[in-house]
Amino acid sequence: MEGQPASNPPLIGGQRLRGRHYRSGETIEIAWSGGRIISVRPVSDEDAGGVVVAPAWCDLQVNGGWGLSFNSPTFSSDDAHHLAAEYRRHGVGECLPTLITNDFESIRHGLATLARARRESAVTRQIFVGYHLEGPYISPQDGPRGAHPLSQVRRPNWEEFCRWQDAAEGHIRLVTLAPEVEGAIPFIEKLSAAGVVVAIGHTAADGGQLDAAVRAGARLSTHLGNGCHAILPRHDNYLWQQLADDRLAASIIADGHHLPDSVIKTIVRVKTAEQTILVSDAGSLAGLPPGRYPCWEGELEVMSDGKIVLPGTPYLAGSGAFLDRCVRNMLRLGIVGRADTMDMAGAVPRRLLGLPPRRLEVGEPAEFIILRESSSEPSEIEPWLEVMIGR
Ligand SMILES: [Zn+2]
Repeated sequence: MEGQPASNPPLIGGQRLRGRHYRSGETIEIAWSGGRIISVRPVSDEDAGGVVVAPAWCDLQVNGGWGLSFNSPTFSSDDAHHLAAEYRRHGVGECLPTLITNDFESIRHGLATLARARRESAVTRQIFVGYHLEGPYISPQDGPRGAHPLSQVRRPNWEEFCRWQDAAEGHIRLVTLAPEVEGAIPFIEKLSAAGVVVAIGHTAADGGQLDAAVRAGARLSTHLGNGCHAILPRHDNYLWQQLADDRLAASIIADGHHLPDSVIKTIVRVKTAEQTILVSDAGSLAGLPPGRYPCWEGELEVMSDGKIVLPGTPYLAGSGAFLDRCVRNMLRLGIVGRADTMDMAGAVPRRLLGLPPRRLEVGEPAEFIILRESSSEPSEIEPWLEVMIGR
């Protein structure tokens, strides 16, 4: 874990902790067994020990980590179990492994392997609650396309999607696409009718196309502010239009590198904490020490600050952060309070997916985020987290 070591561990015995509920402020003692909470009882305020407790988070966009990728042709179910366990150590109780633009067979392989991993392990099944298909039905333009391979970008194809959904055993829960691509609007209608959440992303859509997408059922802007042209018309552009559309929630990569603080602040203020979702978009090199690594057709470099770049250039090539770093960064920025920051990484994405909320209640998973309040200033939170105890 990043951050300072715990100076005052909240654990009492092996499977019990005390702290203040992150939302209600009530001081509680939580006990668990076999990975589930078995009791929650109020205790006196002096017993909080400067600790705040929240449920584990939910990340809508993870591509891999520690050198492993869901998109790799060699991706195995052992890799899936390994990644699930590692994400959990970063505070993620649930997430959507993300398959990006690729040929039919590579995406099918990733989804079928994940489906097998879910069958093999109850823990992996609990963490990988579904999958995010990001592409291949996106803009072919440089900029909006991001790092997705142009040769595999194509128009929506319902039959192709259904074959992927079969391989995924019905667990593709989120699809990111560009609404201006021919055939996208009826495709959005079909996905929405099938219960799949539709997100707009890697797009160069105009205002009319964005409006048509929302009317067809699109509900989210994927990593708003990234996957864009470097230069845009100042007023008439898809960033302002998505920002101003109250029907769309927005996900943001708040790792400190993908968006300037001013853009993060503007998005959160306009969308509000109830419609903003923190995602990591963690790439396959996330979690690795600084250095150069072979990747795709060339090399990528992990910098000492965690940024992942094309060597010798300032161009970002995926995120090197997991969700805990994004949350820490948001706490540092202080745009919204601690409880809202926790919910932007947990309750809000769960609500978008239609998952039940995680609560600190009997029967819920014993997966916690522990935040430590500074002793000198009780209203302040130190911008670091201790994550995941239990089981
Ligand atoms: Zn993307």
